Formats: sequence, C-alpha cells, structure tokens
Amino acid sequence: MARIGFVGLGNMGLPMARNLVRAGHEVAGYDLSAAAMDAAAEAGITRAQSAADAARGAGFVITMLPAGTHVREAWLGAGGMAEAAEPEAVLLDCSTIDVTTAREVAAGRPMLDAPVSGGTMGAENGTLTFMVGGDAAAFARARPILEAMGRSIVHCGEAGAGQAAKLCNNMLLAISMIGTCEAFTLAEKLGLSHEALFEVASKSSGQCWSLTTYCPVPGPVPGSPANRGYAPGFATALMLKDLGLSQQAAGAVGAATPLGAAALTLYERFAADGGALRDFSGIIEMLREA
Ligand code: NAD
Repeated sequence: MARIGFVGLGNMGLPMARNLVRAGHEVAGYDLSAAAMDAAAEAGITRAQSAADAARGAGFVITMLPAGTHVREAWLGAGGMAEAAEPEAVLLDCSTIDVTTAREVAAGRPMLDAPVSGGTMGAENGTLTFMVGGDAAAFARARPILEAMGRSIVHCGEAGAGQAAKLCNNMLLAISMIGTCEAFTLAEKLGLSHEALFEVASKSSGQCWSLTTYCPVPGPVPGSPANRGYAPGFATALMLKDLGLSQQAAGAVGAATPLGAAALTLYERFAADGGALRDFSGIIEMLREA
C-alpha cells in the first residue's frame, strides 16, 4: 500500500481521497478550507499542515484544485510541493487546467496530468474516467492508484495530452447539454411530455450522456441535478472555465469550433443571470425563458 499526499479536498477531491483510504492507502490531505479538513479527518485522512507537508515522504502526490493558478502555486510557489516531494515520487494533477501550465509544472519530474470525467457521483462511486498525459513509466506506476478512484484509465500521450482530451470532451459535453435542453424546451412547447421524449430519444439517435445520465429535467433520471433544483453536481462556473480553456486552445492552434464558441456565450449569459453556482444543466431554465 502506498503513502499518498492529497491536496484539494473539495467536491471531487474528498470522495477521491476517501476511496484511496478505502483501498488501504495511507493518505495525508491538505486543503485551505477548515471545513474540508474536518470532513477529510472523518474519512480517515491524516491532517497535513500544508501542501508541502502532505507531499513530504509520499510515493504519490495528487492535486485536485480549481484552476491552473492554484496548481502552479501549490507546486512551484515558495515552499511548494516541488521542493518538498521525494525526487522519485509520482506527481498527479487531477484538476482541469490549461495545457501550458500542465506542461510547465511537469518539467523534469515524473508527473502526470490526469484530469477526470464522471462528476461528483463518479468520484463517490470510484467510477471516474482518467485521461492521462505524461511519461509511460510514471503512468504504469500510478495506474493502481488511479484504479482505486476510477473505472476507465486512458493514457492519451505525452505531458498535456490528458488536459487536451479533457478540454475536447467537456466542449462536447457543453454542446450536448445545450442541445438536450433545447430538445426538452421545444418538446414542452409542442405539448410532448418529458417522459415521452426521454423514452424515444434515449433509444434513438439523439441518445447521449447529457440525456440518459444527467437528464436536465426532473423525473426520467432520479439522481440528476434537475431533481434537486439544479444544486451541483458540476457548477456552471467550472463548465465556463473548461469552455474558456477549450476556446483558448482552439485559438492557439487555429481549430474551428463555432458550436464551442456559442456554448461559451450561452454559459456566460447563464452565469451572469445568477447561474454560476448552479449545476450546468440548469441552463434549461434560461433557454425556456429566452
Ligand atoms: P472545489 O472548489 O469543490 O474544490 C477545490 C478545493 O481546493 C477547495 O476545497 C479549495 O479550498 C481547495 N484549494 C484551493 N486552493 C488551494 C491550495 N492552494 N491549497 C489547498 N487547497 C486549495 O472544486 P471541485 O469541484 O472539487 O473541482 C476540482 C477540479 O476538478 C477542478 O479543476 C474542476 O474543473 C475539476 N472537475 C470537477 C468536476 C465536478 O463535477 N465538480 C468534474 C470533473 C472535473
């Protein structure tokens, strides 16, 4: 069993770290939030005094932080983890961040960018998908650790490839969610019930994850955020971040992503209208009123 440092014990990080404890690993955790630290202690995670303290003596160090600035600061800032971590430790950043920061932070270390898909439900259930970029030898060492938190582990290529896969996936997710919401909105105005549309589309060519796992109307998928007033789940602010990263990446390499750009504009509007902290599937309410 491994000694693991885990930094960032929020909506995703805490259940991921808890699954590592359940798998028998020794986990030292750190988060800026006192409430997160208390919840972690209840889950059997040892309290570290700082990010560097969590990294010290660990064979694997995992970060699950909001954005690239936090990851850069935690790794490369003064007294950061880059100085404290053992030279042979494998560093795994599971946050969703920009490809450039992922490559910069990796420089010269056995480091993997390993962003996830599957949301908080996937984190709780240990069924996340990991998209991993970085050295093949480090990937082989980290695989059993990732398997304690996820079901599907894909090595996508060199450093940054995991983040690239994540940005492409989430741009597709945003577009498919808006499409699903538009279909339900049109169905409502045509007098078609949610159940009837779900019954047909979930078995037809309109089938997608946004419909069958994360349905944006209450009823057809009991666990989806629509059934709890669009409490996240996956907050719109985070989706907005991912769409911004995908548009930034598309601009940098000259890729045409007109629907990705339209999705960004719509989510910006939803966030400005008070949706930033609501689940991203709540955009159906804005589309209904448009
Ligand atoms: P969150 O805001 O719930 O958790 C982030 C945690 O990091 C917070 O508890 C915060 O206190 C802590 N933190 C911030 N800076 C820190 C620092 N310097 N040192 C220690 N702790 C620090 O966010 P989340 O929903 O857990 O998301 C984390 C990452 O996972 C993001 O990059 C997000 O895009 C990605 N992600 C989220 C989901 C989701 O459904 N929530 C799904 C896939 C990927």
